[in-house]
Amino acid sequence: MEHVFETYQRYPFDLVSGHDWHLTDDSGKTYLDFTSGIGVCSFGYSNQVIQDKLTAQAAQVWHTTNLYESQLQEEVATLLCPEGMLAFFCNSGTEANEAALKLARKATGKTTILSFNDSFHGRSYGAMSMTGNPSVQAGYSPLVPGIKFADYNEPAAIDQITPDLAAVILEVIQGEGGVNPAKAQWLKQVETACKANQVLLIIDEIQTGIGRTGKKFAYEYYDLDPDIITVAKALGNGIPCGAMLGKQALAPAFGPGSHGTTFGGNKLAMAAATGVLEQLTPTFLAEVQTKAAAMWQVLQNEIATLPVVTRVTGMGLMIGIRLKDDAVANDIVIQLQRAGLLTLTAKHNTIRLLPPLVMPQAELLGGLALIKRALQSVKGVTA
Ligand SMILES: *Cc1c(COP(=O)(O)O)cnc(C)c1O
Repeated sequence: MEHVFETYQRYPFDLVSGHDWHLTDDSGKTYLDFTSGIGVCSFGYSNQVIQDKLTAQAAQVWHTTNLYESQLQEEVATLLCPEGMLAFFCNSGTEANEAALKLARKATGKTTILSFNDSFHGRSYGAMSMTGNPSVQAGYSPLVPGIKFADYNEPAAIDQITPDLAAVILEVIQGEGGVNPAKAQWLKQVETACKANQVLLIIDEIQTGIGRTGKKFAYEYYDLDPDIITVAKALGNGIPCGAMLGKQALAPAFGPGSHGTTFGGNKLAMAAATGVLEQLTPTFLAEVQTKAAAMWQVLQNEIATLPVVTRVTGMGLMIGIRLKDDAVANDIVIQLQRAGLLTLTAKHNTIRLLPPLVMPQAELLGGLALIKRALQSVKGVTA
């Protein structure tokens, strides 16, 4: 590629077609997919329900502006929102977090936001400024002021939740940051401190949401009551689509003219999202949990015990395998590509697995067997 900015270090093949949970590259090689894009195509690459809804909508009308009523947006909001929340539709996770930042400041009249080290919230000025990763921010100062950071899972963070904060933003499992799950008790303490200090709790479910962990939203495992939830990635199964969900009480701050977008809530995106959400049934989620349980058994018994592995973390079908310095996660990813398996990396030398939620158990376990073999081939691991 010569005419595109090199903002990505790309692997040297082009994935030109996909079917179910397989992708085929420009040389005709087919891979089992443990990436779903990056947690996007949870229903794989040829889901009939989503495809039918998209093609039907494409034949009807692709786009109208947000100046008109949209029954499709209402439908997606109804399927997506927890009780008592409203939706604002946008096109990406970054935009969802940008909307959350704006709403939190406007609704509370306060400016300061507390975020966490190793978090990832996006690349626009607001979302990047809330991202606890110096390498994402390098060279872009001055950042948006009023954003503070604390250590994730650390009791000291609770003391930083003071009445002057507008909001706390967190992922219940940090994705890009290395698949770091929050401790249940710590999350509860964060929530309690937020409520006591009238600080909004923003949960970024962009990677963890839409069934990835076996529930619609990962925060449901911790019995939390967020004020704002952000989603994107899997919401459109690959058609760009994001949403910020907020409690009804915040609605006065987001009245006419306060925020907007040309494409957000686009009819094609909404058609795809209805296809995703209609299939995200309790039965489907229960199946994800069952398949994930079989995977976690192998992960704990056969992968976490390998000499090169320091820890295996995550929940449901969001999995991080952290390696000792004896191996480089990206080298293992490349080795697995040769063996016909696509995987991802995350911070802290982590191999990240985000397989499509529709992948059958046999294929999930088959992929793990390839990973085990690759990790076993690492030589000279220090004790
Ligand atoms: C991917 C991601 C984002 C950013 O989403 P984009 O659609 O790339 O803008 C934000 N937060 C989390 C947790 C993510 O995983």
